[in-house]
Amino acid sequence: MKNVIFIAPPAAGKGTISEYLEHKYNYKHISTGDILRNVMKENSELGEEVKKRMEEGELIGDDIILPLFKEELLKINDKPFILDGIPRNIEQAKYLDNLFEELNVNNYTVINIVIENDLLEKRVTGRRICNGCKKTYNIFFDDFKPLTENVCNNCGSLLEARIDDNLETFKARTEKYKLETEPLINYYQQKNKLVIVEASKTQTEIVQEVEKIIEVKND
Ligand code: AMP
Repeated sequence: MKNVIFIAPPAAGKGTISEYLEHKYNYKHISTGDILRNVMKENSELGEEVKKRMEEGELIGDDIILPLFKEELLKINDKPFILDGIPRNIEQAKYLDNLFEELNVNNYTVINIVIENDLLEKRVTGRRICNGCKKTYNIFFDDFKPLTENVCNNCGSLLEARIDDNLETFKARTEKYKLETEPLINYYQQKNKLVIVEASKTQTEIVQEVEKIIEVKND
């Protein structure tokens, strides 16, 4: 099975697909957003800085995120991995290239999830996450609404919005994405590593497409 790197705008669905692959195929899912949200919860100067930048829709400095990410990557023992949230810019992509060389990783594919801006906005501003089991909901889409308002179907914990899932921060994050992350499309195209998946398809179609890309055999 191939290792996967997702590049996609905020809330394009990379987290949901990653969770599916993690459970079905035993992938190790590394989300740099989750790593940073954990740092944010610590009562530390670093946590405060991360929180401030996230609230502003800014990227966190490479000097902070890259060592934290490397630590997680090195914990994987021969499992295939999914990178969700990294690289976010060309410098991070070059860092990954070097790290992969060091670790002898060649077998990877970069999946670019393409999605329209209007749909993205609803996905971001309507997203709610369970405080307990982390299941994701969306109050604007019937298929993703909780059965009881603001309560998780799975574990009964309360749902909450991420600190950066509001309209103002969404606009800043989208801007950042265009400026810093979109150039990665070209970068990986030139390396022949890029495939495109349309987020407007049904969840089942998306999953089937991704399964073909990562080369799992369906029976
Ligand atoms: P995500 O959960 O991937 O949407 O990330 C949430 C926020 O965490 C982003 O808006 C950034 O502020 C920060 N972040 C996540 N990954 C990175 C990264 N690779 N480099 C810099 N900042 C990041």
